[in-house]
This record gives sequence, C-alpha cells and structure tokens, in this order.
Amino acid sequence: MPEDEPVRISVDNNRCHIYGICQQEAPEVFRISEGGSLHYTRSVPAEFAAQARQAVRCCPMQAVSIRGGAGPGGAGGSGIGERRPARPLRSGAAARAGRRRIAVAGGGLAGLSAATRLRERGFDGELVIVGEEPYLPYSRPPLSKQYLAGELAEEQLLFRADEGLDAHWLLDTRVTGLDVHGSALELRGGERLPFDGLVIATGVDAKRLPEAPLFSDRVRTIRTLRDAAAVQRAMHTARAHHVVILGGGFIGCELACTARDHGMDVTLVVHSAPLLRRVLGGQVGAVVGAIQRRAGVDVRLGTEITDWQDHGDTLRLRLSDGQRLDCDFVVLGLGSSPRTEWLRGSGLDVGDGVLCGPTCHAVDEWGRTMPHIVAAGDVARWPNPRFDARPRRVEHLIHAVEMGQHAADALLRGPARAARFAPVPRFWSEQHGTRIQAAGIPALGKDVEVVEGTLRSERFVARYTRPTPYGPQVVAAVAFDMPLELLPYRDQIGHSLPRRTPRRRR
Ligand SMILES: Cc1cc2nc3c(=O)[nH]c(=O)nc-3n(C[C@H](O)[C@H](O)[C@H](O)COP(=O)(O)OP(=O)(O)OC[C@H]3O[C@@H](n4cnc5c(N)ncnc54)[C@H](O)[C@@H]3O)c2cc1C
Ligand code: SF4
Repeated sequence: MPEDEPVRISVDNNRCHIYGICQQEAPEVFRISEGGSLHYTRSVPAEFAAQARQAVRCCPMQAVSIRGGAGPGGAGGSGIGERRPARPLRSGAAARAGRRRIAVAGGGLAGLSAATRLRERGFDGELVIVGEEPYLPYSRPPLSKQYLAGELAEEQLLFRADEGLDAHWLLDTRVTGLDVHGSALELRGGERLPFDGLVIATGVDAKRLPEAPLFSDRVRTIRTLRDAAAVQRAMHTARAHHVVILGGGFIGCELACTARDHGMDVTLVVHSAPLLRRVLGGQVGAVVGAIQRRAGVDVRLGTEITDWQDHGDTLRLRLSDGQRLDCDFVVLGLGSSPRTEWLRGSGLDVGDGVLCGPTCHAVDEWGRTMPHIVAAGDVARWPNPRFDARPRRVEHLIHAVEMGQHAADALLRGPARAARFAPVPRFWSEQHGTRIQAAGIPALGKDVEVVEGTLRSERFVARYTRPTPYGPQVVAAVAFDMPLELLPYRDQIGHSLPRRTPRRRR
C-alpha cells in the first residue's frame, strides 16, 4: 500500500545478522556491501516508505525500527507505536451490538500479519486472536539459530508490530472446532466464539517418528519456543557432547551448525542423498553437504535409524547400514504436518493443510468457496497462478507475512472482487557462515544452471527451470553468498525464457 509520508528507520547492529532480507524487500533503502555490512537510508522518502515497512515486518531478527508515516493504527501511527487500550471481550457482544467481529485462529506471524492488514484497511470492528501458545507472536527462525546459541533472549523474539492493533488476544487458548454454517469457533472448555469473518492461521507442527521413544527427554523436535528451550537445556548440560540430528532439511542443517559452533559432536542422519535434495536439488544440495562436512559434521546419507535404546545416560541408536551410534540426545528435523486436527468434521477440505482457492478463501470438501473464511501461512494450501493450478503449501517467514496480508484483503473484498495471490516465495538460510537466499520453488525445477559464480567456489547463483510448451519456465533462483546478484533472477520467476534456437546453416 503506497504511503504519503516519509519515515525514519534505524537498525540495531547487535541484532542484525546480515541475512539481507531487508535488501530484497526494499533495495532502494537497504544495501549489503561487498564486505558484508548493512548500509541503509535513515530518512526514507514517502515513495519507498511502504517497502521499508514491509522490510521491517520480514526481518526475522526484528532488528529494524521504523518511525513516522501511517502505521496500522492509522495516520501518525508508527507500526510499532503506542497500543490503544483493548476493550474487554464478551462472547457475542460485538455481534449483539451490530458491530462486526473477525476472529483469527492461530497467534503466529500469519495471524498477526492478517490482523495488522485488517486494521490498515480500516476494519474497525472487533478483532479476536486465539493462540494456543502462552506468548504473543514471535519469530521462529532464530529458534534453531541465535536463540539456541544463547545470543537472543525469549523477549527479543517477539514481533513488535502487534502494538497499536487494538485486538483481543486469547492466549493459551486452543481452538477445538469450527462450525462453518453457524460461523463460530469452538474453544477449549466449550466456549463458542461467533464471528463474521475468520482467518485460519494455525501453522504446522514438527513431524514425529512413531518408532522413536515418545516420552524420552532425549528425543526432541523444534517448532515452538518451548521446544527450543528444551533443546537449549539439553545442549548446555555439562555432560552433553554428542547430538544426532535426524533429517536433512534446512532446520536439521541449521541445528547442526549451531550445535557444532557450541563445540558438540554432530551426526546428521539423512534418509536421502545428498543433503537438501528435496528442497534445492542434488547439485546444490551437495554444496551444502561439503560445507557441513568441512565444519566437522559427520554426515550419514542414505541411512535411517532402525533401533532406539534409552540406556539412562546415553541413547543407543542402530542405523539401517548396521552402524551403531551412542549420543546424548536426538533432534528430529523431519518436516511438518499442518495443524488442522481442530478442523476435522468441519466440512473444509483439510487434506495436507487448508485448501484455498487462488484468492486465499477456504474451500470445502464439495469444492465450494467459503466467502467468510480465509487461510494464511504454513497451514494454507493454494494454487499459485505464477506456477500452475496445483495447490501447495509454502513454509517461509516472508510468505506468512504476505499471505496474511493478502488473506485479510480478500476477506474484506469477498471472493468475487479479491485478487489472486501470486507471490514469489522467498527464504534464506545460513550454513556455517555461507548465506543462502532463495526465491521461487526450487523443487519444481527440472534443470539447474549456474548463472553467476561457480559451485566450486561456493559463491554462485543457480537458476532452476522446467520445460513448458512455451519454453523453459524459470521456477526458482538460489544464491550462495551473492544476495545482490540474485535480484534480477528473482524477477524472472514464473516467466518463460526464450527457447534456444539452433543456428541456421548457411
Ligand atoms: C526452527 C524454525 C526455523 C525456521 N527458519 C526459517 C528460516 O530460516 N527462514 C524462513 O523463511 N522460515 C523459517 N521458518 C519457518 C517460519 O517460521 C514459518 O514459516 C512461520 O512461522 C509461519 O507462520 P504461521 O503464522 O503460518 O505459523 P506459526 O508461526 O506456526 O503460528 C501458528 C500458531 O497457531 C497456533 N495454533 C495451532 N493450532 C492451534 C489451535 N487449534 N488453536 C489455537 N492456536 C493454534 C500455534 O501454536 C502457533 O502459535 C522456521 C521455522 C522453525 C520452526
Ligand atoms: S533483514 Fe537481515 S540484514 Fe536486514 S536488518 Fe534484518 S537481520 Fe539485518
């Protein structure tokens, strides 16, 4: 949304980790130098204020502050300005008084982003955000990185953007059901929360392994602050020196980095080969494998754990290749399952997440669009017209911000007038000091071409394409330590490249 007043920004250098997301969101305002330091314009003209504000929302370290301009509270608000006093919530009160109520199920980033956008768009009815965790929304990426390493405290993870929102927060409260036709949420304890509009943003949970000892303190997952605190305690126990990480996705690889930096022996056990193959493809995944090995991580590919024995002070694991591993604890990094258990029986289509149409409106089991229900963030599965008609989920922080915003717009406009949601998904990671930035969906790529730098130098941009009748379509670009060079390739995503025509013989 364009803004008509300049804003002032400042960056807390102690928090900034040079991920470069701000540069991707607002290249006119932020720039990372060749030497790897962040430069930015303190006084941002009105024409770039909206970009700067989006960069603030997408910074996982909450390192950027913004002042001035029109924030969520309206003119004069800062986006992180004063909180207006919240009115006490009485179930059904808004509906009786003829005011409208929008409920948000899930108190994470996507829910926060939707709520903020509703206020920005002038929604002045009642906003009720129901979250199962006892905390206000917080940034999850540092859970496997700076929080685990003890560099960030709990309160530093909280998103500051909820201030000025004038919402009722029902924290520590689980939503247990949805009555679609009666337009009401069912809360733990039996209370009903009627609504006029609903945003579903309940995210995902970390996958568990049925054969792993379910109640052992030595087997952990990492999705919530509480999970991360438990892993942090396990890591900092004086005796703990060996951790096994099961799963070769980004979270597993990042955990390996943090534990290694902490001086632990780390074994990464991965069913497939190479690392990150499903996300980045074999060639680029192999570069991550080389980086991990060089940092001293014991990477075991193409194997899995077949036997678990808790021997009191150690956990003994047997691998499918016959090897035995003794360790202090195991962290599972096996992917995620959408939090839709509370929607079972509601009539919504919840096969692998909440199915949505292109506008983010939820769709029921009979294919009907629900005009008063939208979904956003990790839990939502929708067809991104930039790629094709197949509904997919995307689990990245920037996506939670953007889909929350779009879902809010769509809820206010209704399915007939709402725009289709066609973003370029973007994410980042850091592997032992190498900064990875990605745009698009690399897993859709059939061909990978290194378009800048070289794989060997571990500084490169790789472009992912897939064949279509109109020529190769660019589906993703991934940069290793080349954030600026990524930008032009990011802009190609979803477009077809000209077909290479064979040279004519004279
Ligand atoms: C360890 C870790 C590292 C990550 N690193 C990166 C990274 O480097 N880059 C990146 O782009 N992304 C990363 N992510 C992903 C990113 O954090 C998510 O995409 C983002 O948090 C999704 O936001 P969300 O609001 O959709 O879901 P969530 O943040 O999961 O919020 C959903 C909320 O809803 C609550 N909830 C669920 N069910 C109910 C219910 N029935 N009733 C009430 N409340 C409920 C949950 O408890 C949760 O608080 C990481 C995630 C994790 C866990
Ligand atoms: S996005 Fe990254 S580079 Fe930008 S301020 Fe945040 S941590 Fe620093």
